[in-house]
Amino acid sequence: MAAGTDAPAGTTIAVGSLSFSLTNEWTAGRFAHLRRALTLVPQSVLKVVDGLSFQVKSQTSGGEDGEYDIDKHRVIMYSSAWQANAARYGGSEWPVYAIAHEIGHAIDRAALRKAWSTFQGSKGTSSDEKALTTARSESAGRYVNKKGTFELEVPLAGKEGAFRKAAAKDGVKLPSKNATVLEGTPTEYASHDWEDVYAESFALYTTDPKLLELLRPTIYAYFAKRYPRKP
Ligand SMILES: [Zn+2]
Repeated sequence: MAAGTDAPAGTTIAVGSLSFSLTNEWTAGRFAHLRRALTLVPQSVLKVVDGLSFQVKSQTSGGEDGEYDIDKHRVIMYSSAWQANAARYGGSEWPVYAIAHEIGHAIDRAALRKAWSTFQGSKGTSSDEKALTTARSESAGRYVNKKGTFELEVPLAGKEGAFRKAAAKDGVKLPSKNATVLEGTPTEYASHDWEDVYAESFALYTTDPKLLELLRPTIYAYFAKRYPRKP
């Protein structure tokens, strides 16, 4: 595809044997940001989210500039991501960072997506349910059975899993039992939610790994070991 051409719905982006796609049209400028983000994300990460699709929506969320839909395995970017100032962030333009952040949510929840898919194909016995509810995202999110409906919960307290332990070594903590804000998160945005601690750390690892290594060395080491930049 020539530079400067809008990318229609159904466009696929091949990265080696992996494939990503657009569910609707992306302008040339926005598509260039997506391609840039996919170039920066280590291949060891892309393998885990193979088949991910991308959609752009002309709306603002009032909060985050995008979201990850685990059921559709889709990143939805809001046009607000391109309305922010064009300042560089973590070594990249803001939309590239924002896309990397959403890919971070997809990678964080990969184990939950797999567990959900296994559960959907099961007979739904109590042991099947146990396999689902004991699965954890990297940020320690889990499915909880709420009167027959499985909801994703991510407790703010606790150090379950290697990611939270790494973050704790770097000073990320809940200052008291009833606190609602984490201290020591790599960005202020990440302070309300462990999934955003993960996604913000991942976006930094993707767009400016040296900065993450400087700011939060143990989190950096966690990603470098699990998702090396060179396979
Ligand atoms: Zn987020």
